[in-house]
Amino acid sequence: MNRKSRFGRRSFMKKSAAGVIGAGIAAGSGWAQTAQEEKQAPLKIKEYRTLGRTGFKVSDIGAGSIMDEGVLSAALDAGVNYIDTAEEYPGHHKVVANVMKDRDRKSVFISTKLIVEEDKSKEGFLKRARKCLEELNMEYVDCLMMHSAETVESLSTEGFHGAMDELKAEGRIRYVGVSNHGSFWFKDSEETMGKVLLAAAEDGRFDVFLLAYNFLQMDQAEEVLKAASKKNIGTALMKTTPVALYHSIKSSVERMEKEGKEIDPFYTEGVKRYQDKYDRAQGFLKKYNLQNPKEIKAAAVKFVLSNPDVSTVTCLAKTYEDMEGFLRLSGTKLTKPDQAKLDAYREGCGELYCRHACGECEPQCPHGVPVNTIMRYHHYFTAQGREKEAMLKYANIPGVKADVCGSCNGPCESACPYNVPIQGKLILAHTQLTMP
Ligand code: SF4
Ligand code: SF4
Repeated sequence: MNRKSRFGRRSFMKKSAAGVIGAGIAAGSGWAQTAQEEKQAPLKIKEYRTLGRTGFKVSDIGAGSIMDEGVLSAALDAGVNYIDTAEEYPGHHKVVANVMKDRDRKSVFISTKLIVEEDKSKEGFLKRARKCLEELNMEYVDCLMMHSAETVESLSTEGFHGAMDELKAEGRIRYVGVSNHGSFWFKDSEETMGKVLLAAAEDGRFDVFLLAYNFLQMDQAEEVLKAASKKNIGTALMKTTPVALYHSIKSSVERMEKEGKEIDPFYTEGVKRYQDKYDRAQGFLKKYNLQNPKEIKAAAVKFVLSNPDVSTVTCLAKTYEDMEGFLRLSGTKLTKPDQAKLDAYREGCGELYCRHACGECEPQCPHGVPVNTIMRYHHYFTAQGREKEAMLKYANIPGVKADVCGSCNGPCESACPYNVPIQGKLILAHTQLTMP
């Protein structure tokens, strides 16, 4: 743990022990709280919800792939008891193993995930599941999920279910889940998150869903959440704060302008369409005094917590300060002023955000660019601080990437129901995600 982390941890623990939060620190964090609220809010989880048919009472604020052991440990000390991980998150199993080493295993619900890859054999899944358990240094995980099930057909992968049955019988997993944040490839654009997860609810073999839901992306997710509730399926959320993107794009655009590269006219047009929307958003944010993205982020988390069909919200905290911000939101609900902020943000910036789990534009692309996937990786880069991981994922996309967007007239844009300036955003994404 470095010096900065030690001080952060000390400050965090002090506040936990005292049960109060200093107004100065909270103001610095930018999370939206009044001074009165700050003084009264203990750094403890205030609400636990039943995770569907598992019956486990999970904290409303859960932990996503938090890589700092100190931060994750502090979150658990404060009462967080849901951890989401995956074989695909580099090094995260080890972080979870270290943090859980001296803790009561039964007090925390741990969920990991396996991608349905080319090897769909039962043996293949068993081997990978056992490797996950070994990395986690655990006798069992509470839930093993099919990671990013891309199609309705993939939900029925025999090898996966055969392996899950065997692992259940051995006591190495307790429940089975499925995650989805949208179609992956151009050819699967009909297989939306809504379609796949509604089918998973009917399938009956999945006990927990991990899905994308936020105030800019509601329709499909709310339908899925309702269906899950009817079937008593637990729900964990990801991608709940589609907010920081605007601010980081601002600095990226400025950097690109400074570089002054020679560019194709199509490129100029695409960037211009993006810039027009960006300028409009800037004026709007100024008008409604929404300059601090963390204020909107807090309202965004309250928005999803206000949905009674949500069991837990997995949060990505890089620092103790981030974690404090999330903990303060436990047990809260959306207020009218919060809703007004979200409405203003949606109107001003909504067109800059590509809805994860959508993909409606992809059939229009003559080159088969996986728009939804690239936008998601760009979101990891700009809004979640997962730069290296995002660049690696982008580099590993087989086939066409967004470099082709610079010499295209952007027919995909007319198909986007949310008016996202796709071409400009993809050009920017390619610039940022390409390894030097
Ligand atoms: S800008 Fe052109 S190449 Fe890029 S995704 Fe859109 S249609 Fe495809
Ligand atoms: S750009 Fe628009 S149509 Fe394409 S995936 Fe994103 S939100 Fe959907």
